[in-house]
Amino acid sequence: MTLFVLSGCHVVTMDGARSEHASGYVAVNGNLIAAVGAGEVPAAFDHAQIIEAAGCLATPGLVNTHHHLYQWATRGRAVDSTLFQWLTELYPVWARIDEQIVRDAATAGLAWLARTGCSTSTDHHYVFPRGGGDVLAATVAAASAVGLRFHPTRGSMDLGASSGGLPPDEVVEDIDTILAATDEAISAFHDPEPGSMLRMGVAPCSPFSVTGELMRAAAEIARQRGVRLHTHVAETADEGEFCKERFGCTPVEYLDSLGWLAGDVWLAHAVHLDDAAIRRLAATGTGVAHCPSSNARLGAGICRTADLLAAGVAVGLGVDGAASNEETSLLGEVREAALMARAVGGPLALTVRQALELATLGGARLIGRADELGSLETGKLADIALWRMDGLPHAGIADPVAGLVLGARPPLELLIVDGEIVVERDRVVTVDERAAAVAAARAAAHLANAG
Ligand SMILES: [Zn+2]
Repeated sequence: MTLFVLSGCHVVTMDGARSEHASGYVAVNGNLIAAVGAGEVPAAFDHAQIIEAAGCLATPGLVNTHHHLYQWATRGRAVDSTLFQWLTELYPVWARIDEQIVRDAATAGLAWLARTGCSTSTDHHYVFPRGGGDVLAATVAAASAVGLRFHPTRGSMDLGASSGGLPPDEVVEDIDTILAATDEAISAFHDPEPGSMLRMGVAPCSPFSVTGELMRAAAEIARQRGVRLHTHVAETADEGEFCKERFGCTPVEYLDSLGWLAGDVWLAHAVHLDDAAIRRLAATGTGVAHCPSSNARLGAGICRTADLLAAGVAVGLGVDGAASNEETSLLGEVREAALMARAVGGPLALTVRQALELATLGGARLIGRADELGSLETGKLADIALWRMDGLPHAGIADPVAGLVLGARPPLELLIVDGEIVVERDRVVTVDERAAAVAAARAAAHLANAG
């Protein structure tokens, strides 16, 4: 059992009192936090390895609540398009992915995400080409290699173009295949135990690519098996039109009619919400994964984060797939969330600490793990980001939390996940970064050349 203590750093605990220690320590024993406090390391830890962390800022590891890892192989396409144009260009490319491409894309995507302070990531995988092999298992293998805590979801699409949906028929599956594969994936990968490194979720793609029948059946399976539910909703104004024409209601009303507003559901985007929708999300305990960079990249709009928080909705942050957010920096999303909330809601709409809370406690709530993740407290899992704040961009800054949220992305001195070091001095130590980059480039070239 390893025992070490980060010593002399500024500590942002995100505990109940939102305590911060200008100079404090975080002790780690095995995969758990053994102690957190201000001042000198207590004598009880005399025999522990001391890691001098003066000049650094310790925060809880960040939790990414929306992603499509396979998209790492399709970055930089349809760069000036609407969501529906972007999807229409990319679906045929995505139809050619296979397990090797997904493994390479996910490894590079997760390694990069780790570099941006992310210790737990979800993934929403909904493209399962026939003959492509086990692409979901490929993401699981990648997360295991990189060493991140992983909450993949078995996604799906069953509403092809011939039935009035947006995706071409070759990338959709039939409902029986989807439900059987979803059940199998939960059996194969889901670990419900405390400290779990992998929990599954169920995630039909969106109202314009999935039938209501699949939405209902997916929710039934998830609830039988005790896993959470996820989907995209109200991302663009186009989607609102689609729902009005097809279902005669708003996207959120549509989800409500399917039993999809509840405490075990978190929704990606939720940009175009009216006041009634926000009240309904709050009343049902439904969470929102805010993806500011992707929403801006696709010109979709800006999520009403401040209104959601004021109503009591749990909000986390997501980078979304790299095809609509080539940066995919989770710390970057913290900055974007703060700036965008203020751009539309005024200077007091979201504080820098609230923005950081979205990416830590907020994310932990969305994935149902606020009891284990999202704060630095004794007994919680040892998922810690240690940021170096004494270099050129940050040295001397009055408030290190403002430096982290509003300033340049600081070097990541350490990323600790489940008590293990994943990033050290801004390099991933679990996989070879150079090899991961070469493999990802090969995967992207393979997709480009096959078209
Ligand atoms: Zn998405």
